[in-house]
Amino acid sequence: MNEKDYKSATHAVRTGQVRTHEGENSEALFLTSSYVFANAAEAAARFSGDELGNIYSRFTNPTVRNFEQRLAAMEGGERCVATASGMAAILCTCLGLLKAGDHIVASRSIFGSTVMLLGTLLAKFGIDTSFVELTDMEAWQAAIRPNTRFLFLETPSNPLTEVADIQQLADVAHRHDCWLVVDNCFCTPALQRPLQLGADIVIHSATKYLDGQGRCIGGAVVGGQELLNDVFGIVRTAGPSMSPFNAWIFLKGLETLKIRMKAHSENALMLAQWLETQAAIDRVYYPGLASHPQHTLAMQQQSAAGGLVSFVVKGGQTAAWRLIDSTQLLSITANLGDTKTTITHPASTTHGRLTPEQREDSGISDGLVRISVGLEDYQDIQADLNNGLMMMP
Ligand SMILES: *Cc1c(COP(=O)(O)O)cnc(C)c1O
Repeated sequence: MNEKDYKSATHAVRTGQVRTHEGENSEALFLTSSYVFANAAEAAARFSGDELGNIYSRFTNPTVRNFEQRLAAMEGGERCVATASGMAAILCTCLGLLKAGDHIVASRSIFGSTVMLLGTLLAKFGIDTSFVELTDMEAWQAAIRPNTRFLFLETPSNPLTEVADIQQLADVAHRHDCWLVVDNCFCTPALQRPLQLGADIVIHSATKYLDGQGRCIGGAVVGGQELLNDVFGIVRTAGPSMSPFNAWIFLKGLETLKIRMKAHSENALMLAQWLETQAAIDRVYYPGLASHPQHTLAMQQQSAAGGLVSFVVKGGQTAAWRLIDSTQLLSITANLGDTKTTITHPASTTHGRLTPEQREDSGISDGLVRISVGLEDYQDIQADLNNGLMMMP
């Protein structure tokens, strides 16, 4: 059976493995910085590029390559380049595809460090970014300039779980000779495959669901051969490469990704539905709810609604903090995509650097609470929150 013909779960478990002569069943972990050549001529051929093969683990490591091939197959991309973190994946994409004088259009509802990178750091190097409302198609069109090179978004967004139409935005991008870059962190290829919907590049923070067990930092860029060659050139030369140990952890994470994402989504849907019935709660944000503004689109574009649920408690920050502090099982942390359910107050943590006006503009109210629903028994997650909600005035 040809590896190319595998279905997705088979890719997740099998693709990219090259067994050594030891015959190991699990993937080998190659902790080596460099490689030995048979002779001087082979060394010369490797360095000149005449012969493919390992040279130095900043850019050639079999365990990292195994992870890259597996994730590329799962996303349906020609090539993947692994990086030291999700932020390194975004940085290397920008450095690989852009030059001074270029312009990016990005959703306003993206990861805080990505806003800093695109909006502030890149400006130092002559690259400008315009930020638009994720779901406002006219705003995306209007923000595109002759020097715009790509559109950048996350869907569903964090923490309000707004959903953008990837196919429609890919059409807009391509009509204007731009690329579409999608950070697919929250869905992963188990729930959503942006490249199949027309996106040109997919970004991952492997730190989140790809690992799924809160152990390692890593990232990846997936897409066509030509664009990825430029991204690889940056990683190879500048050095924000993924460590082989982390690649091995992520490989093991990929093997269980599909069943984990299904279980996260099932727990999250039950929790969102229950939260919607609670008197102490004003509003619940979850794409799997019929009340979600883009519910129909989300269910066409994704195979399930994912693990992130946000809601607004009555009584602002005081009530939100009281609920968070009442929990005993849930972890109070801003991290997400873990087997452990996590709870956070976006207005005072992830979005704390915004001014109150900026927060109001972005819909991050003081009563907003975000939960990354984990894989504990659903009844225990609900009971922990119910305990706090019972104490609400
Ligand atoms: C966490 C995160 C990142 C950054 O990833 P790191 O691995 O922390 O560098 C980028 N995008 C999204 C959507 C994230 O949640």
